[in-house]
Amino acid sequence: MPSFSDKVKRLERMRLALRRRYGDPPRPAVTHPVEHALRVILAEETTAQEAEKALARIREHFVDLNDLRVSRPREIREVLGQDFPRSSHKARVIPRLLDQVFKQHNSMVWDFIEAMGKVQTRAYFGKLEDVRPFVAAVIARDCAGAHAFPVDGDVARVLSRIGVVDLADQSEAEMQAFLERAVKANRAYELHWLVKRLGEALCLVESPRCTECLMIAVCPAAVKTPREKSAKRKKKPAARRAVQSKKRKAARKKRR
Ligand code: SF4
Repeated sequence: MPSFSDKVKRLERMRLALRRRYGDPPRPAVTHPVEHALRVILAEETTAQEAEKALARIREHFVDLNDLRVSRPREIREVLGQDFPRSSHKARVIPRLLDQVFKQHNSMVWDFIEAMGKVQTRAYFGKLEDVRPFVAAVIARDCAGAHAFPVDGDVARVLSRIGVVDLADQSEAEMQAFLERAVKANRAYELHWLVKRLGEALCLVESPRCTECLMIAVCPAAVKTPREKSAKRKKKPAARRAVQSKKRKAARKKRR
């Protein structure tokens, strides 16, 4: 089991490697916190483009956000499409989130965030029912400037395959707490974006495309091609031969 400092080093190596491939993250200012939250929920296990298209379908179908708030999950799921990843879950969470905030603030404009600090914003959204911790983390980070490392299904999947979090032992909130200690505040946004990019491009839910991944050499979960496996097997006898020759030399020395 890698130690805390091994995991910190692995995360940093990952950041540097992925940055070479994907570049710097864009960081547009959040002008519409509600849509930002919807986008983040929709983007789990799909690409940012597909999430944007789903958001466009929602805008087109529902009169406004209030109409979306009072809509049935079944209708939202139909708008998202049966094949849209985790459509049932997303269709259930979206009106729950909107409704709880509306009942407390009597508004579909979340300008109350401006008056809250980083900690308060995160705590507020974190307490809402059925809303997973990554949503609170994203809003606190992007709308209130908090240090956060939001862990949705994609981040959990990629980082568990890389061996820095444990899906079986840690909740999403625990993974977030760990990552917020392990990754410095000035690098967290970038690494989070890079991990999401890797998750949508190569480290897919099913059939990850490991042979195209820059992390293949260090990833314990990498699925290697038969060619790479046989290259690894060939290395073993060479290593064994080196040990045997060392032993022979030592034995010859003794005899002399
Ligand atoms: S090597 Fe494969 S499993 Fe590991 S991070 Fe890359 S795509 Fe995911």
